[in-house]
Amino acid sequence: MKRAVFPGSFDPITLGHLDIIQRALPLFDEIIIAIGVNAEKKYMWSLDDRKRFIEASFTNESKVSVKTYTGLTASFCKQENATCILRGLRNATDFTYEQAIAQANDTANGMDSVFLMCSPEYSHISSSIVRDIARNNGDINSLVPDVVKG
Ligand code: ADP
Repeated sequence: MKRAVFPGSFDPITLGHLDIIQRALPLFDEIIIAIGVNAEKKYMWSLDDRKRFIEASFTNESKVSVKTYTGLTASFCKQENATCILRGLRNATDFTYEQAIAQANDTANGMDSVFLMCSPEYSHISSSIVRDIARNNGDINSLVPDVVKG
């Protein structure tokens, strides 16, 4: 059983996240989309909304489940008997950031990471850009799934 955990804030889920999950589906038997909850972080969308957006995006996909967690991602992965952590890469900045985390997760916790490169049409999309646009009443339609548009 190959079970991947795709962790993130998903504040909100974007077309970039969906792209990574869609291309990961043939590689794994199960994908747990794991919303990390950090008490010190302020979110734009509530945890309930973020979970609902993801669930609505995968209603017909039995391989995908959505969970929330606190604490270390690697500990959550072990608790869920996951094979690896799945992460998406857009560019070299993402790579540099992810490299240290992946190496620490491997060295300290024996948890491997698998990276997938997003399609070029999604490499400009990030949740933080979506939040900036939404905060200023801009148009997020080309960046997020329909359910987020509300
Ligand atoms: P975090 O706060 O942990 O970075 P995010 O929700 O922003 O959480 O991102 C979760 C994962 O999705 C990360 O691996 C991130 O690199 C990836 N990701 C975000 N946006 C994109 C995108 N447009 N294309 C590919 N991967 C993406």
